[in-house]
Amino acid sequence: MRGSSSLKPALTLLAIDQGTTGTRAILFDRSGRPVARAYRELTQHFPKPGWVEHDPEEIWRSTLLVVRDALAKARLRAAALAAVGITNQRETTILWDRRSGRPVHRAIVWQDRRTAELCRQMKSLEPYLQRVTGLVLDPYFSGPKVAWLLRHDPAIARAARQGRLAFGTVDSWLLWRLTGGKVHATDVTNASRTLLLELKSSRWYSPILKAFGIPQSLLPEVLPSSGRFGVTAKVGPLPAGIPVTGIAGDQQAALFGQGCVEPGEAKNTYGTGCFLLMQTGTKPVLSSHGLIATAACGADGRPAFALEGSVFIGGAAIQWLRDGLGLIRSAAETERIARSVADTGGVYMVPAFVGLGAPYWRPEARGLICGLTRGTGRAHLVRAALEGIAYQSQELLQAMERATGFKLRSLKVDGGAVKNNFLMKFQADLSGVPVIRPRIIETTALGAAQLAGLGVGFWSVKDLARMRSADRIFRPGWSAARRRAAMAGWTSAIRRAL
Ligand code: ADP
Repeated sequence: MRGSSSLKPALTLLAIDQGTTGTRAILFDRSGRPVARAYRELTQHFPKPGWVEHDPEEIWRSTLLVVRDALAKARLRAAALAAVGITNQRETTILWDRRSGRPVHRAIVWQDRRTAELCRQMKSLEPYLQRVTGLVLDPYFSGPKVAWLLRHDPAIARAARQGRLAFGTVDSWLLWRLTGGKVHATDVTNASRTLLLELKSSRWYSPILKAFGIPQSLLPEVLPSSGRFGVTAKVGPLPAGIPVTGIAGDQQAALFGQGCVEPGEAKNTYGTGCFLLMQTGTKPVLSSHGLIATAACGADGRPAFALEGSVFIGGAAIQWLRDGLGLIRSAAETERIARSVADTGGVYMVPAFVGLGAPYWRPEARGLICGLTRGTGRAHLVRAALEGIAYQSQELLQAMERATGFKLRSLKVDGGAVKNNFLMKFQADLSGVPVIRPRIIETTALGAAQLAGLGVGFWSVKDLARMRSADRIFRPGWSAARRRAAMAGWTSAIRRAL
């Protein structure tokens, strides 16, 4: 550890993974193995329909607590930390007072839809925003949330005009607190989720700031995801002087942690929804298929770009089978049930409960189950629900291939539903590429640790490559004709849902 007075080399990296439902700390040893973990749930506030908030002070407190717990479990002194990496729920927006360091509002969480009206009013700017930022104009992103706060709270607007406030996504907020209020910065992946950043130059874009009415003085400095962000002050269990050298938004951290650093490499996270990202290298690919372009990290942690698409209802379809229909008792048993039949008997389930996302973008579409016969049973429906997750993911992968011209060679996977071996094998068959499930499933935290490790010289690019090992590889077994026929069946079901 450079600049340290300790003679013993620091042997551990701390990753802080601040997610929507909770905060996690994981300590990684030099070989990249997780040696201790701690987790705390986070209170969700729903002050009005469609609104979702977090308490920034609780985010901070929970962070210190999980760091303390993880260190205690590993019986490690904080001085043994080589560096800190941060990964976080993206787009969630915090404003705080620069002098007191206190938030002036609860964090507006990415899921919050309060800015829908504001986005509608600005609709005519969408093509322009898309060209500059790579994003679609949607309440999801941070810029509209900041604009909303400035428009709805005169005290906040005044303080902002006087330069007294700081804006940050959760990474910036944690960095500010970790450094004792010394550093107001963010990384390029988080910055690319604001609708305020010019994607290709990684700079805040003043015409857009003007359009949203956001003063430049609010904004953090934008830095590469791997490199020196600052050093810790003495806070909670942490001593002064530990470098913070890696920051990335959760999906980009997972992309990096999965080793998707060459153009065309992709990962899919199967959770409540699915998040697909494809690395596109040093040039952003602006897509017309409803995919978004976003900042990501290249092999050496330096800025690169990715295409991103999401499936709104992924594992949530399985929750619906359990809680809505009472068809199953647990998500885990779907694997056995799906395997008990040879196929779905022609049944398709399109879980468009909240409309269809990329590549269709039809919010008014609704779900359907089609192809029912007298012979359709519970197992066929369960199987159709699992297959529906894979079909939706495959549509996104195809849209990404079309947009980039890259041919997918394998798919890295993570998230809660990858435990389902049937789903993984079906995805491999349908996509025609090996589906690779890693041994270390905390790919988000691992990615943040790796970025920090690279940034502080704890690991080399070669070290990172050695850390990536597969738990299981699902090989594709279908002919191209069979894949095409399966997709054609799905597409005709989708047409009915539209
Ligand atoms: P999130 O991070 O979005 O909360 P997780 O990554 O924890 O989600 O994954 C949970 C989701 O995965 C749930 O929607 C659940 O239905 C689904 N899931 C969990 N285990 C299985 C399984 N064995 N088969 C299919 N789906 C599963």
